[in-house]
This record gives sequence, structure tokens and C-alpha cells, in this order.
Amino acid sequence: MKSLGSIRRSFSPWTDPAAKPYIVFENVTKKFGDFTAVNDLSLTIYEREFFALLGASGCGKSTLLRMLAGFDEPTSGRILLDGQDLRGIPPYRRPVNMMFQSYALFPHMSVEQNIAFGLKQEGMPKADIDKRVADMLKLVKLEQFAKRKPHQLSGGQRQRVALARSVAKRPKVLLLDEPLGALDKKLREETQFELMDLQQNLGLTFVVVTHDQEEAMTMADRIAILDKGQVMQVATPAEVYEAPVSRFVANFVGNVNMLEGTVAERSEKTATITGASGAKIRVENAGDATAGSTVAFAIRPEKIKVSSRKPDGAANVMEGEIYDLAYLGDMTVYHVRLVDGQVVKASALNSSRITEDPLSWNDKAWISFAPDAGVVLTR
Ligand code: ATP
Repeated sequence: MKSLGSIRRSFSPWTDPAAKPYIVFENVTKKFGDFTAVNDLSLTIYEREFFALLGASGCGKSTLLRMLAGFDEPTSGRILLDGQDLRGIPPYRRPVNMMFQSYALFPHMSVEQNIAFGLKQEGMPKADIDKRVADMLKLVKLEQFAKRKPHQLSGGQRQRVALARSVAKRPKVLLLDEPLGALDKKLREETQFELMDLQQNLGLTFVVVTHDQEEAMTMADRIAILDKGQVMQVATPAEVYEAPVSRFVANFVGNVNMLEGTVAERSEKTATITGASGAKIRVENAGDATAGSTVAFAIRPEKIKVSSRKPDGAANVMEGEIYDLAYLGDMTVYHVRLVDGQVVKASALNSSRITEDPLSWNDKAWISFAPDAGVVLTR
């Protein structure tokens, strides 16, 4: 079976027409005065899904979370959770908890008191609280820090206390607003995997807001790409990367080359695109592009091969010269200026220590790629 990218786990209720969505945003609009922060947005999230809302600053991500948590109500449209319309239900009566960007730990309380706080407020018996707190400390591996105050902890440890506190009440859904924002890069990467394990072990539904595409790609089952309060695409990380639906999504996630042109020929499976300089590109994955339409062929740098000699037998070959080059250790990135002046990025994995076909600045070079190496975009 062919599939896009690697598969994280065999969990894909969205492909099952009989599966019932758990969270539904139905034509939700949120206005602040005349400003529309969320614009007629519809979205479904499934139980036990790790769902990421990804978008640039101000695109409406946090507003969506706040409406789900009950801190804001939609101006129009509905939000359903497990079939129930949430309108009018106050935050504390929703089976949803939110972990804020700032963690908002109580500075005068110890780690265990912070975790116990919500349980005490709920009136849980002391013995049950003690047991639950102990379970939570174990879950986030902070048993030996139970008596410390937040200022005696590292950023990563504070983040884990906040996480333990937000899941202590066993919410069905945990909302996380930039949960790893305060951590440095290395700790972020480690914590991403911890979060994924935690979510799977607890069997919760996680909705996470992030502007970091790598973070969303690493952690989420599906990602919604947002722009100006609207959904641009909802798909698995591999689909978003390998089969973006528009120029916006292709540009937003990862590096991409956009070869603009016109569809000269179109058959059921293939198309030929003619660029401004007359160069022809033979492609598959032509989607709904019709003959004569203006399109972009979006191709990722790692799908392009660079060589010093004209390759034999490749479907698409273009001539150029090395315009720029960056050796990054694990890979080398080439900027190749084509004959028509366009600069194309190509990356090559340095899987051996010695390069067989060394290329340097201003060398003549050829790029080549397969017909299914990219996608044709009409939007
Ligand atoms: P960031 O990544 O910067 O947190 P975001 O995508 O989470 O951004 P939101 O906080 O949802 O963005 O805000 C979306 C838009 O709505 C922004 O332009 C913001 O200025 C506006 N907005 C949010 N809350 C209010 C408010 N209470 N009153 C007026 N405008 C608001």
C-alpha cells in the first residue's frame, strides 16, 4: 500500500464515515466590535485525537480555544461537545481544561499543593486527593519535587507541574495554548514526545495551539492550518506537507519551490506545465487543474536531485548553475539558478561522509525530479 509520509499510529477516525466527531465547530464566527477574529469556521475533532491549530500570530487560534473552554462565546454558529451545544455552559461545568501559555502556577504553593488545588475546590475527599496527586507526580516524573515551590524548579519542570495540574481533574479534553513556548529548543523537543505519551496513556483529547509548524508536525494526529479566522486545510502532518491544497499552505509548512506556469496538456492522470521561459514540466498529481489554467507546481527541496552532469532518463530535467550553497552537516542545501533566472532550492542528505559529485559556487548543474515529486496547485 502506498501512503504519504510515515504513519504515526493506526488512529484515523476521520477516515471512517461512521465515526462520530467529539468536538464540532459549526459555522462559528467571533467578532470583536467590527473585527472578525473567527470567520464562519467549521471543524471537527475526534475523541482521543491530538489536534493542532497552527497559524501565524493573530489568526484566531487562541480565540477558538477560549470559546471551547467557555471564556468567550461565538457571535454566531455552534460549538458541540459529545453532541451537546456548549452555549451558555460556564467554563467550570465543561469537561474541558485549559493549560495557559504562562502556566499560571501559584507561587506560594508547593508542587503538590498546586496539583491538589482544583481537586480541593471540587470537594474531593483528602485521601482521594493524596492518591490522585501521587499518581500525577509519578505521571510527570516529579515525585522528588513534591515539596518544592515553583521558583525552585526549572522551566521544563514548571511546565510539567502545570500539565499535572491541568489533567488532575481528569478533563475529557485538554486545551493547550503554546504549551512549550517557554522552553528552550532541546527541552521543547524532549517534552513534545512526553506530551504525546501522556496524551496516549491518559486517553484524552488534546487540542493544542501553536505557531511552530515543526511542533505541530511532531505531535499532532491532524493539523488545522488557519489564516485570518478561516481554515485553510485540515489534514495529517504528512498530507499537509506532501499534498497541500493551496499555495498558502505549501508556503506555510516547510520549504517549497513554486514553479509557476500554464497547463499545456491535461490527461486523466498527468499534465504538462509550460513555464514562462517555455520549459516544460511533466507532472502527476495534477488535481483539478484544467488545460489552459494558470497553476503552480509545488515541489519540496528534498525531492529535487542536483547533479553536475545531465541525468539520463529523468522525466524532468532543467539546466542551471549553483548560485548559493549551504553545508549544514546532515544535509547540503543548493540554490540553483535556472536558465530562466528562477532560483530553485534543492537539498541533499549527506548520508555518506564523502560526496561523490561535489558541486561548488557557479558550477554548471542540472536539477531533475520525478513527475510525482510535487503537486499542482490551482489556488
Ligand atoms: P497569537 O499566536 O499571537 O496568540 P492567535 O492566533 O492566538 O495569535 P487570537 O488571540 O485568537 O490570535 O486573536 C485573533 C485576533 O482577534 C487578533 O487580531 C486579536 O487582536 C483579536 N482579538 C482577540 N481578542 C480580542 C478582544 N478581546 N478584543 C478585541 N480583539 C481581540
